[in-house]
Amino acid sequence: MSIYGNIYKSIIFPLYSKYIKKSQVNQEYSQAKKRLSWNKQQLEEFQWQRLEKLLAHCWTNVPFYKKHWQQAGIKNIEEIKSLADFAKLPVLTKQHVNEYYDELIPASAKGKNIKKATGGSTGQPFKFELDELSNDARQAIMWRGYGWLHAGLGAKSLFLWGDNLGKTSTLRKIKENLYHRFYHRKMVSTFDMNLDHMDIYTEKINQYKPETIVSYVNPLYEVAKYINREKISIHSPKSLLTGAEPLYEYQRKVIEQAFQSKVYNTYGCREFMLIAAECEKQQGLHINIDHLVVETLNEQHEHVIAEAGDIVITDLMNYGMPLIRYVNGDRATISPSPCSCGNPLPMIEKINGRKLDVIKTANGQMIPGELFPHLFKEFSGITKFQVKQTQLDSITLLIVKNDQFTEQNQLVINDEINRYSKGELQINYKFVDDIPLTKSGKYRVTVSELK
Ligand SMILES: [Zn+2]
Repeated sequence: MSIYGNIYKSIIFPLYSKYIKKSQVNQEYSQAKKRLSWNKQQLEEFQWQRLEKLLAHCWTNVPFYKKHWQQAGIKNIEEIKSLADFAKLPVLTKQHVNEYYDELIPASAKGKNIKKATGGSTGQPFKFELDELSNDARQAIMWRGYGWLHAGLGAKSLFLWGDNLGKTSTLRKIKENLYHRFYHRKMVSTFDMNLDHMDIYTEKINQYKPETIVSYVNPLYEVAKYINREKISIHSPKSLLTGAEPLYEYQRKVIEQAFQSKVYNTYGCREFMLIAAECEKQQGLHINIDHLVVETLNEQHEHVIAEAGDIVITDLMNYGMPLIRYVNGDRATISPSPCSCGNPLPMIEKINGRKLDVIKTANGQMIPGELFPHLFKEFSGITKFQVKQTQLDSITLLIVKNDQFTEQNQLVINDEINRYSKGELQINYKFVDDIPLTKSGKYRVTVSELK
């Protein structure tokens, strides 16, 4: 780490956060780091204590939960004595949050919370709130996770991030630049990434020479493909962290080849920030169980381990708008085994990704969205793609092609899709210059507009 990085981490940041920001980030950060010296059982006990306290708060102070849980047959919150009991509580969906927004905020927190919004995968904005202490705590948890990947406090970082910065005023831009420079990081928006101007990104990386690059998966993958194709000499950072979109192994390979450095997957979402992160062993992602409860459920709403399930998450620190057993729409496989690195936080074996839109046929065939990235990666003539369904009897493949694309490719693709659809889908091709992103700058593989 550079001299600035070290001074920043040990002196500037603690003073800044305590006296100027009046925040608890630094205190939360040192406590969170200390907890990594505990064993798993100690962490689980700590998690349970935090959960018990939060549940009591919800029962007494958050009108929505008492009703929601009573309807599920809970007479008294003290009935919930373990994580197994906790699983009896009904889940919380995005629709619940939209519909009962005010009832999810305790009277004491009204008007004091920090308000956030997400673009949402369908482009529909989703709003939520959190109290200040929990905002500090989640930043501490993020710094802890990034810390074991050479990307912690003070590390010179370049962010390739999908946020739309287009409408920001000049003054705000200057302020943001100063803020990021203080944090020793540079933000590069990938929202307007244009495949004809990829040199913008490689030049920025070569100029800034970051210790780490933190990026959405797909823009980094595009940059890496460009580097490999054009044989560009590129600065090699100590680590590359990806997040916000599912990372496929073939993408990891291409990125690692381009930068001659390891790619670490992180998993988070705006509602909770960092949920889990890989470590140097790359045996899965360590779950921040001292800050969150992360469960995976099958279709019968039972806990599953070692098989893919729907993720439900509880933020143990957010008392301002508690999200208890919140379904975030992603799927993951929790591992029964610990990691060999010595970090006691348990593991997610695999992030199975956002539940991608399923493609359907008139005879009831369901084609999982995951098929398509695996199919299209086989064709070097396809730069980008999206599968769109607006009618039950057809799909449209939006394809950004390059000169290696052949008509033969098209026949192979048709064959593969026909195999899964039993020939029930008319396949339309639309060759385009680019694929539009969602409002939060994410790339969607499949888009189903069927009702
Ligand atoms: Zn590990």
